[in-house]
Amino acid sequence: MSKKKVKLKLKSSARKPLIIVGVVLLVIIIILSFYFNRIGELKNLGYSEEAAKNIIFKFKYSYVMDIGENKTLNMAFSSSDYKEENLDNYVKIGYEDQDHLISNINKLLDKGYSVNEVNLIISKGDDKSVSDFVKRDKVKYIEEFLSVDYAKLENLDRYVEYQDKENDDAETTVLYVNMDFDKENYVDPLVIDKFDDYVLVNKHRQLSSEYVPDDLVTIDDEYVKVDEEIEIERNVAKAFYDMAEAASKDGMELMVSSGYRSYKDQEEITNTYLELYGQKYVDNYVAKPGFSEHQTAMSLDIASKSTATFVNSEEYAWMMDNAYKYGFILRYPKSKEDITGYKCEAWHYRYVGKKIAKYIKENNITYDEYYVMFLDD
Ligand SMILES: [Zn+2]
Repeated sequence: MSKKKVKLKLKSSARKPLIIVGVVLLVIIIILSFYFNRIGELKNLGYSEEAAKNIIFKFKYSYVMDIGENKTLNMAFSSSDYKEENLDNYVKIGYEDQDHLISNINKLLDKGYSVNEVNLIISKGDDKSVSDFVKRDKVKYIEEFLSVDYAKLENLDRYVEYQDKENDDAETTVLYVNMDFDKENYVDPLVIDKFDDYVLVNKHRQLSSEYVPDDLVTIDDEYVKVDEEIEIERNVAKAFYDMAEAASKDGMELMVSSGYRSYKDQEEITNTYLELYGQKYVDNYVAKPGFSEHQTAMSLDIASKSTATFVNSEEYAWMMDNAYKYGFILRYPKSKEDITGYKCEAWHYRYVGKKIAKYIKENNITYDEYYVMFLDD
């Protein structure tokens, strides 16, 4: 054996493992770049890092790329509650920002609810009400009531009960129950502590003594018809001045006879009337403390400078045609006593802003209805 041959043999046996290592490294690099490329693509579609990893490890990359962006899928793949057999359904269920969304979807599907029903249940509830709901046996009438835009999952049993009694259609039933028509006036009201421009006050919704407006101003003397200072929210005062100015161009003289009344003011008024006229009168004509819209500082009692009875004045007729242009609505109209719970008050106006005032006028509805349909959450 020559020296040369031995040398060559050594060389080739040392080269082989190097090649293998090289090839393995190359394959790893290709796989990794493939992997990171796919993670990147999924993240571009709005999937989280965690969801993207799970999508790849569960071999659902192509499936998800076909679907594209989908927040419910993203949450499913990020969740330990993910169930492969529900994958096609997750895609069809609208995302809601609820902590137990995926686990609740699984439970609802397990109970035999259709995808449409699951969609309605989770979109008309919140995390708590849905989580409570999934513990119950399967419930009927989901589509009938929860298809109504402003339906609430938490009120479902009340809808069923109310319709059973009143026989109204589903939409009316949902509207009326959301307005608490299935409860007695003043019994178990919702109590509101925090100031809100759009707050709704009625016989089921009470302002607490803590409820205080945030920016009161005093109405200019020239517009005040009574012998006292009248305070009101700053933006309401501004809208009133605009309206009064426009009215005066038409020869009308709008005045104010009442504005903000605190919880304590209303308590005193109630007591005065109680002594003068007794309980029955108070129950019928005087708002109990916390139930007066004047505590919102968003309501004004309007008067005419020349006439004592506002309902007979030219100013009243002018207000009927024009108040909405300045953001005011007649809060207790004659034809709506069943809904507002108040006899018509021709003088009492609520400021709701121009957009809402216009809608309410055009659709001939009350603020109670508007609030339940568009502002209540
Ligand atoms: Zn009033």
